Amino acid sequence: IHQYNDPQAVFDLIDKQFSVDDNVLLDLTKTFLEEFKVGLANYNQAMAMIPSFVTGVPDGTETGTFLALDLGGTNLRVCEVVLNGDKTFSLVQQKYRVSETLKAGEATALFDYLADSVDAFLTTHATTDYTSPQDNKEAAASNSEVHLGLTFSFPVEQTALGSGKILTWTKGFSAKNAIGNDVVKLLQDAFDRKHMHVKCVALVNDTVGALLSRAYTAGGCIAGAIFGTGTNGAYIEQVANIPKLAGSAAAARGGEMVINTEWGAFNNSRSHLPTTPYDQALDRLSINPSFQAFEKFISGMYLGEIVRHVMVSLVDAVPKALLFSGKSTPELNKHYGLDTSFMSAVEEAWIGDSNEPDSFEHPPFGQEFSKEQLSPKVVAKLDRIRKTIVEHLAFKEEQVSYKDAAIVRWICSLVARRAALLSGVAVATVLIQTKHASLKGEHSEIKGINDRLGLGVDGSLVEHYPNFTKILRESLRLLVGEAVEKRVEIGLAKDGSGVGAALCALMALKHS
Ligand code: ADP
Repeated sequence: IHQYNDPQAVFDLIDKQFSVDDNVLLDLTKTFLEEFKVGLANYNQAMAMIPSFVTGVPDGTETGTFLALDLGGTNLRVCEVVLNGDKTFSLVQQKYRVSETLKAGEATALFDYLADSVDAFLTTHATTDYTSPQDNKEAAASNSEVHLGLTFSFPVEQTALGSGKILTWTKGFSAKNAIGNDVVKLLQDAFDRKHMHVKCVALVNDTVGALLSRAYTAGGCIAGAIFGTGTNGAYIEQVANIPKLAGSAAAARGGEMVINTEWGAFNNSRSHLPTTPYDQALDRLSINPSFQAFEKFISGMYLGEIVRHVMVSLVDAVPKALLFSGKSTPELNKHYGLDTSFMSAVEEAWIGDSNEPDSFEHPPFGQEFSKEQLSPKVVAKLDRIRKTIVEHLAFKEEQVSYKDAAIVRWICSLVARRAALLSGVAVATVLIQTKHASLKGEHSEIKGINDRLGLGVDGSLVEHYPNFTKILRESLRLLVGEAVEKRVEIGLAKDGSGVGAALCALMALKHS
């Protein structure tokens, strides 16, 4: 809440609070690298650096038909994936809603619901006779069960391709009697209780899935990243660089292993992240205060809520409100009442169908400004934003001034820009850790200077948020230089969790 003499000072302060300067980005990358190293050496760290037991990546020639189940975001997805062996696949999927009651209830109820959803899918959607040898030789040879890969996008300490203990819930889940248990067993028990002929053979994180599926469709990839409800990344590491595996069979085998970083937990101590009072409020009111600190600056679940906090602070400002003439709506007042898709819609309304630079011509927000002072082009843009605000926040059109629209768009772009710049820090860390890049100002030997650096990404933010990738690249250029940034090939791992789970199920069957 702001109390001010000069309204411009309030806007200047918010601008400053959300700006991240170059030195902060550089320092964060150094800290990120340190946390990577600590996580690779020790168990039970915030940055968990979880070995996935995936020891190679696909090249596009893999074949087979599998079921995939994806839990970890806004929806539960069940799909049937056919890998054609020529970098292509086909996929049928159905989404099921996970109610808040299930998210917070008993784990057995949640896993029974997962099994019911797979059962419903098999009856209504699945197209393949899984027992037919032409369709899936591996599956048919071992038994007549349907093989399923589980994409489970929560921190899990994996002990093999097909088992892992749940470490903690994130992203609004809190089901009881799950933490500490093997998630594959919880699911298999639910299938068995219902006498279903489905066998869960592989457990994969969505980031690992994004990496694998991008490697399958693009013929190579070094990392996967999610910018959706939450954020996380996975990359290919040398087993020799994972001290915590010392003494294990995996260490004896050597070679490479995909690591699920769980980077959403970067800097849980919050000593480095450029935290604003709005971030503090969001964290304090979240179901996991002081956990997933990085994720709370970046992902879809939180960005809309940060914007809402900033908007409300301006509505409440004294002596005179600085937004919506001091009016609010139940939607604007509601905790998590503003979805991140609102921000996308506002920015799209601003950009319109033109591709012009997004510089923002308007009088300073500290002054009153009227329609007459604005160019017709800006008026048209602001009219579209006013409509978006009216639609999403249930204001009446006359309650939203041109200045209000301009301020809302400005807040959205500040919050999103910070998110995209920080996302670049995570990606740069992976490039440096894998010796594909060195941090600006430091000169280490880098490998394969002409190689394409494939990054498979998934999630609504990268897919839909205007300029998210562009700003992420701006951050990469600053951190690792333009030459490396240009070689980074960011590609959508569309249906990555389903295809990744299928590829993982195939690997598990080959190893068994
Ligand atoms: P998930 O990560 O759950 O698999 P998504 O990648 O679709 O699924 O992410 C959903 C999150 O993205 C939600 O938090 C939602 O607020 C946000 N979101 C949905 N649509 C958009 C959009 N058009 N632009 C930005 N964020 C969006």
